Amino acid sequence: MNILKDLYNILMPRICVVCRGTLEPDEHFICTNCAIQLPRYPLKSIEDNEPLRKVWNFAPVQYGATLFYYRQQSDYHHLVTNVKYKGQSDLGIMMGKWAALEIAHLGLAGKVDLIIPVPTDKNRKRERGYNQAEMIAIGLGEGMDKPVKTFLKKKNAVASQTKLDKTARIENATGIYQAKIPEAYKGKSILLVDDVLTTGATIGNCALALLADDPLAKISIFTIAYAG
Ligand SMILES: [Zn+2]
Repeated sequence: MNILKDLYNILMPRICVVCRGTLEPDEHFICTNCAIQLPRYPLKSIEDNEPLRKVWNFAPVQYGATLFYYRQQSDYHHLVTNVKYKGQSDLGIMMGKWAALEIAHLGLAGKVDLIIPVPTDKNRKRERGYNQAEMIAIGLGEGMDKPVKTFLKKKNAVASQTKLDKTARIENATGIYQAKIPEAYKGKSILLVDDVLTTGATIGNCALALLADDPLAKISIFTIAYAG
């Protein structure tokens, strides 16, 4: 068994996605050293923080949390981009589980009934084979012991944003997400999950789509990283 494992490691070296160093058998995707040094977002409260304020520009969401700072020049961005572009769906699940552990003390899990990932359109999902936000949501759902539901969809054909004026652009953006929440889930507390939060527009528009379908829903947000 060990010989097989050694052989597998020679043929398929397991390396840390951040520093590219060889992983110990008990390490997965990231080495202990890089995990310790993760540029964590200093989250003191889920009721008021910078990522949450960004989303407030777009939608009335309640609680918010994130795990770490996203910087293109930092090798830590691979924790997100490898899920999105390199087919590492399991890394997304691991990140979700890890985040659930890291933010457990803030009590977000106690404030949500279900988790909904920010959707990608069908073409993207077909190309990639999965939706990266859904992978994070699955890991988070396991860690928080909450169901993950895909009640939110993204429409396929979207007019190029750059060709539209500002008002049309906002209408276009809010119209591209559509929620269909079953009666049994109406009025529940929903945790919307995405990979990176930048302006907050995407997750904000998703929250608006959920509220349009269920005005009594209470929406909170979580993203693995914050590019603020
Ligand atoms: Zn490392």
